[in-house]
Amino acid sequence: MMKNISVLGSTGSIGKNVLDIVSRFPESFSVKALAAATRIDELARQIETFRPEMAVVLTKDHANALKNRLSPGHSVTILYGDEGYKQAAIHPDVHMVVSAIVGAAGLVPTVAAINAGKDIALANKETLVTAGDYVMALAREKNIRILPVDSEHSAVFQCIEGQSRKALAKIILTASGGPFRKMPQDKFKTIRPEDALAHPTWNMGKKISIDSATLMNKGLEVIEAKHLFDLSPEQIDVVVHSQSIVHSMAVFHDGSVLAQMGIPDMRAAIAYAMSWPERLPLAMPVPDFAELGSLVFEKPDRVKFPCLSLAYTACREGHTLPAVMNAANEVAVQAFLEKKISFVAIAEVIERTMDKHLLEKKPDLLDIIRTDSWARNQAETIIKDLPRM
Ligand code: MG
Repeated sequence: MMKNISVLGSTGSIGKNVLDIVSRFPESFSVKALAAATRIDELARQIETFRPEMAVVLTKDHANALKNRLSPGHSVTILYGDEGYKQAAIHPDVHMVVSAIVGAAGLVPTVAAINAGKDIALANKETLVTAGDYVMALAREKNIRILPVDSEHSAVFQCIEGQSRKALAKIILTASGGPFRKMPQDKFKTIRPEDALAHPTWNMGKKISIDSATLMNKGLEVIEAKHLFDLSPEQIDVVVHSQSIVHSMAVFHDGSVLAQMGIPDMRAAIAYAMSWPERLPLAMPVPDFAELGSLVFEKPDRVKFPCLSLAYTACREGHTLPAVMNAANEVAVQAFLEKKISFVAIAEVIERTMDKHLLEKKPDLLDIIRTDSWARNQAETIIKDLPRM
């Protein structure tokens, strides 16, 4: 059956890979809506290739710029802003919405899509990190599926498929460890954004590359996994595996461990979310195990990478604290990319923002959005008080 999809975040690294899969399996997928922010040229190329009915950009100016870039007489409906993203999320002919807008901005359109009864291929971590309880309850109520795009969650999802849920004891998320795994801690002060952007195994956007370097990416994934698989924080372990061959594991109560493996290519997980329960013939290369010789694992260093512990704290406390942590992280990462704060200050800004927060129990969507902007303001204030780099 042809699956109609809407891609929120089509010009980012996930979005481009989604469209790569669509172009290879045109008999399986049809693109109805594409939503981006400001990369007009890339979006215009995508529109010419995939012929969606609807395209969405950030502002009216971007919408006009996009119109001028398209060939004359193009029939695509161009929308912009929050209402535009919502329309792309709830397009009546769409079966599945790919949620790949980076950051907390992805939350509202994803919730709109769930409310409209769409299945979600979820790449946007913040949806579950900031509003996991709310979103999972809504997904159950609307009887839709949230299919993980993140390689670790896809791995767990694949390992537990067909197993008794009661037999699942815990999961083990693998982490590449980022580019500073071997760097001595006293050198961390000298890390520049360009060093952190050079990820050893995965080719990703800027925000997620910094999150990988601080291990916050793994922290966000722990919180995401808690909601996606209904686990307690104690049931989620993290192990560093820089080869990125084992994408994550599930441990059952008889002591059996199932691992999902493959080469580190995000298209495998993306394709599985898009095509589930089918598997697409991707013709991916398979790891050469004899060539690899061994698979190596090590404990994450929580002293060098305090963000992981901050995320476990947020995961245990729950309620509004993960949203606070996430917002502070977004602000701190942006400040680091703009060379306003040091690499080590990222964790400091997050921790101090979390310390200032008074937990609100059982937040609804508006509480989450309010908390998110409170935490951004707090983090900005904390950054202003830090010594300039
Ligand atoms: Mg991941």
